[in-house]
Amino acid sequence: AVPAAQRSTLNIIEQSSKQLLMLINDILDLAKIEAGKIELHEAEFYLPTFLYNIAEFMRFRAEEKGLVFYFESAPLPTAVYGDSKRLRQVLINLLGNAIKFTDQGSVTLRIQPLETETSPTSPHFRFLVEDTGRGMSSHDLQTIFKPFEQAGSKKDRAEGSGLGLAISQTLIELMGGELHVQSRSGEGSTFWFDIPLVTSHDWQAKTAA
Ligand code: ADP
Repeated sequence: AVPAAQRSTLNIIEQSSKQLLMLINDILDLAKIEAGKIELHEAEFYLPTFLYNIAEFMRFRAEEKGLVFYFESAPLPTAVYGDSKRLRQVLINLLGNAIKFTDQGSVTLRIQPLETETSPTSPHFRFLVEDTGRGMSSHDLQTIFKPFEQAGSKKDRAEGSGLGLAISQTLIELMGGELHVQSRSGEGSTFWFDIPLVTSHDWQAKTAA
């Protein structure tokens, strides 16, 4: 057994290496974006389970901070085609920010299918992350999507790199969407994007068989 004092040191080492790894991955992503070498790897995945896993992971982090976490999802098609790893990265970035910049209240993850009469084979979905946190001024909103741009206190800045939103925005564009934000200082923020996710009928047929 590891004594308590050493355990806490080990915890700090583990946290620091995780943060370092995240920073390395973000810098690599940014380098790939700048070299025009970032691309999606699409495959079939099971949408409800995918979202549930993300929600449970983030619920844990929100509740640790004393926040309420809401996960609201309309009935969704089961299997879709897309880059689940990159979609997870985007959602975790947005939810992580929502938790980081909220000290009381709640964080919500909401997923809605959108009406698409024009292309029924490629339905669009809205992914929305809402918080009741400290929000941003209209001045902040002009810069946060740029790499290395951060708003807020020195302490908040130290915990991040200012790369998350720049990377997320590029990934969402690759997926065929656009990242939007609405926020008011002191009242909270809402980030959302609409992307097409092809429902995989093949897969449904396969599981039915
Ligand atoms: P990081 O979180 O590493 O600082 P991001 O690119 O993810 O970098 O975010 C850039 C900046 O946008 C943050 O530093 C913060 O000032 C602001 N921001 C992002 N999300 C939120 C949010 N939900 N509420 C308030 N401010 C936010």
